[in-house]
Amino acid sequence: MAAVVAHEVSHVVARHGVKRLQAVLGVSAAYELVFGDDKNKYRDIAVGVGMKLLFARYSRDNEREADNYGIYYMVKAGYNPQGAVTMFHRLAELGGVGYNNVFEGLLASHPETQERIRNAESEINQMKPLPNNLVDSRQRYQRMLERLPK
Ligand SMILES: [Zn+2]
Repeated sequence: MAAVVAHEVSHVVARHGVKRLQAVLGVSAAYELVFGDDKNKYRDIAVGVGMKLLFARYSRDNEREADNYGIYYMVKAGYNPQGAVTMFHRLAELGGVGYNNVFEGLLASHPETQERIRNAESEINQMKPLPNNLVDSRQRYQRMLERLPK
């Protein structure tokens, strides 16, 4: 869970979404859509390209970058980054069935899972020595779930 969130946060921090918008729309229209004040204008742009955007994926370079930053953020947030490796192994086992809608069409656009595993492991190795108080249990996740409104 932490690995998936860290990966997605990394896309946002690295502004991959904006870059993807720019690739689809052109820079000025993308800027207008994200930062503009003219509601009618950006609504027209949004409607006009909505479908194209829906099918535009992050590039593989974006994905690699999000994987690497994700591992870094996991450590910064106090999670054992080995969880990312575990997640990739689980994905490899799933073989993508039923996963495409859950995690942004993961196997279609993301680098090969085996490559992601190797990259994650080398990223983790480069960060060593890791802090020795990293969390890799479900306890913190369970505590967060308990705090959610029921
Ligand atoms: Zn991604």
